[in-house]
Parts: sequence; structure tokens; C-alpha cells
Amino acid sequence: MGNTVLIVEDEKAIVEILKFNLKREGYEVLEALDGETGLELARTKDPDLILLDVMLPRMNGFDVCSALRDGGSAVPIIMLTAREEEGDKVFGLEAGADDYITKPFSMRELLARVKANIRRRHLDAGNAGNKVLKTGALTVDLTAMTVSKNGEPVEVTQKEFDLLACLLSTPGKVYSREELMGKVWNYDYFGDMRTVDVTVRRLREKIEDDPGAPKYILTKRGAGYYSGSE
Ligand code: CA
Repeated sequence: MGNTVLIVEDEKAIVEILKFNLKREGYEVLEALDGETGLELARTKDPDLILLDVMLPRMNGFDVCSALRDGGSAVPIIMLTAREEEGDKVFGLEAGADDYITKPFSMRELLARVKANIRRRHLDAGNAGNKVLKTGALTVDLTAMTVSKNGEPVEVTQKEFDLLACLLSTPGKVYSREELMGKVWNYDYFGDMRTVDVTVRRLREKIEDDPGAPKYILTKRGAGYYSGSE
């Protein structure tokens, strides 16, 4: 069975062109023209990926994204942001989106992103073996794709999980932002390094006792990030 993509977008013309192209690539497509309906479909139909517009009637894309993450969903989410709204990119990542693409977008690029985000998720789920990473109070289960601290579950997004698993797999190894971009986000041509910093900050808030004095994800000044080994 094909993967299912949920499109949440209020511009009919964009929905139609997305639907046409996604179906041609073999995806099942669900559509919602407002945020509330999108959230409802995301929860009940369990899509493999969501394309989420920002400006939507009834509930905006950031709120839909936050609501899904707060509910524990790890579905890959690509936000569709307007080119002129630079701040939207960071807001989207703060809300828990995995990726964003600016309008007007190239269909080829969008399809590549959809494919990369879905493949990434399946690879993580399939190739992880039965591996559990532990450091200090933190446990990362690569099979179940769960994170816990002192036995208590910590809700993380797909990208947060990938980043944490990457760093914890090689304690002490320093990764540059560019390397993390390529490893976790799967493409290196898309070079907004704030994506890495925002994701690290979000992760620290979730896993560190004191995000201002982190123990698990450390900064190597001028070089990048690494995981502390205990
Ligand atoms: Ca819109």
C-alpha cells in the first residue's frame, strides 16, 4: 500500500496541483481546507506525512503542529511557508515541524522533500535493530523510537529523535551544523543552520535538568555539537 500524505491547505488550486502530483507518484492523498479538519484527519487517519500550510482558517498551521506534537504524534510535518515570512520558518520548527518549504515552491523539490522525510522515518524504524542508547538518566530506544529520562517518557519529534540518536551513538564526537544538517535532515543543499540550533534548543529544554548548563548535548564553540558521555 502506498504512503498517505495529508494536505492541509486552504488554497484550492494548490491542493489540486499537490494532489495531482502526489497521486502520480503513488501516494494516497487526504485533504483538509482548514486547520481544525486537518488536525482531526491527522489524528484519525494516521497519515505518513503532513504538508501543512501556515495561514489557515479556523486554526493556523503552527497551532495544528503544536497540538499534534503535544498529543505525542511523531508524524513527519513539512510546513508550507510564505517566502516573505522569514520568521515563519523558525516558528514552524519551534512548533515541532520537521521541515519547511517556501511558496512558491518547485514541485520537484517538494516531492523530493516528501520522499526524503518519509524514507527517513521508515529507515529509522526498520534499520535500528534492537539498540538502546543510555547515558546518565537518559535512555534512547532506537527500535521503539522512544526517549525516556529517569524512566519517564519524553515526547520528542522525529528530527529531535534523529538528532539525539545521532549524537548519542558517538559520544564525544563533534558534529558541525553542516554535518548534522546532512545526517538528520538528509540533504545538504538546504543550508539554513538555524534549523540545527533551534532543534538543539528544543531538545535541551526537554532532556536537560538545566538547559542553560547542558550535560547531554554540549556545544563545542565554533565547531558544533556533541554528546557528553557519563
Ligand atoms: Ca493559506
